[in-house]
Amino acid sequence: MEYIFHDTDKELPDTYEYIDRLEDYLGKKIVRTTFGTTFDDLLRKYGGMIPSNHRRWCTRMMKLKPFENYVGDDPCINYVGIRADEPRIGYISHKPNIKAVFPFKEDGIDYEGVQKILRDSGIGMPPYTDWGRTRSGCFFCFYQQKIEWVQLKRKYPHLYEEAKSYEKPNRINGNVFFWCKNEPLEDLERPERMQQIIENWEKAREKQRQSKKDVPLAVILAGMDYEPPSREGCLICQL
Ligand code: SF4
Repeated sequence: MEYIFHDTDKELPDTYEYIDRLEDYLGKKIVRTTFGTTFDDLLRKYGGMIPSNHRRWCTRMMKLKPFENYVGDDPCINYVGIRADEPRIGYISHKPNIKAVFPFKEDGIDYEGVQKILRDSGIGMPPYTDWGRTRSGCFFCFYQQKIEWVQLKRKYPHLYEEAKSYEKPNRINGNVFFWCKNEPLEDLERPERMQQIIENWEKAREKQRQSKKDVPLAVILAGMDYEPPSREGCLICQL
């Protein structure tokens, strides 16, 4: 079994901390496949046009390509960590030597099941889940929810500033693109706007809780009753 990590150089500090924890548990190094290629180099190559779900060069260049390069032509079984309760399939290589398998799906392991595995093993949940982030991946990932931007601003204001600094005219057509759909991060960080996002998120969370029937009290008390919303994007970016 080999463990690899496609490091974009723009990951959360929590992700690096969790990788260290995993290495201790596994007793072996997790190979960084993207060593030497930085996000900023690629951004220059793409004329300063930050990636989005329509211009998703980041995943192609920093996740998929390094993965396929690393595997080469050797036969490979790729363990894809999509849970049984997730509808998406995620990234599957079309190279004939790479076969994808879905152990959580095959064994019916859902979000609660994954939490249990991590707890029982002593590894625990990734630290970013403590402050409300649902995914790893780049700190500026355009797939994150607005509430996650608010959390990022609170937890790592310097990373929020760094994300903001990328929202400037690109060299191709002079347009400015934003990470969070059409809302500039400069607007999103206004206190009244952040408050509005928090209130909307709390309402949505409460509604989801109320719609769930027959949730055991122990599950609610353990804070396991709230499932993260289904995630967009491919799992190759996320732990
Ligand atoms: S985490 Fe988001 S921004 Fe980073 S490579 Fe993946 S899709 Fe792109």
